[in-house]
Amino acid sequence: MELAEQMTSMHPDVSHVIITEEQIRARVAELGAQISADYGDEPVLLVAVLRGAALFVADLSREISSPVELDFMAVSSYGSSTKSSGVVRIIKDLDETIEDMNVLVVEDILDTGLTLKYLLKNLASRKPRSLEVVTLLSKEGKQRVSIDCKYIGFDVPDEFVIGYGLDYAERYRNLPYIGVLKPEVYAD
Ligand code: 5GP
Repeated sequence: MELAEQMTSMHPDVSHVIITEEQIRARVAELGAQISADYGDEPVLLVAVLRGAALFVADLSREISSPVELDFMAVSSYGSSTKSSGVVRIIKDLDETIEDMNVLVVEDILDTGLTLKYLLKNLASRKPRSLEVVTLLSKEGKQRVSIDCKYIGFDVPDEFVIGYGLDYAERYRNLPYIGVLKPEVYAD
């Protein structure tokens, strides 16, 4: 879809689109090619962090030619929904052990990095063969802890974004693009 067309079909709560559906598709294909080149014929276990990374992992996994396995974790951070507290609780753990496996954590967005920091420490203690991270989005200049993130889809400005898996109050995950909500939506 062309940008102009996408703008006309934009959700009424969205003030502007920052990454279009086409840009996402092209970048996900690039990431998949890079990951396939790095892992080759080695199996890779994609550990997607629910719920935000669900759409990303569905598309990314189809762009990887290496043997892929999928597992899911759900975490919740204590505190308000739009700010990360760094205190993370595992709501749903992996179904399988990861010992001696190539684990690639699939995240939606890296903000302060606190969630991922906790998750990586937890996963590392389970002795995977390798442990890397792919994140669709990374907020520029926001990371409070340094995370070794091997694959980054896009750097985004420090705004609260929604769409392509990312929610506000559980809505907007199904938007095909990444956008910013109109301020009045938050005020309700
Ligand atoms: P961090 O611990 O890196 O600060 O936060 C990571 C998590 O906070 C993400 O996985 C995501 O669930 C949520 N988050 C951070 N920034 C945004 C944002 O701009 N939009 C949405 N929808 N969620 C965000």
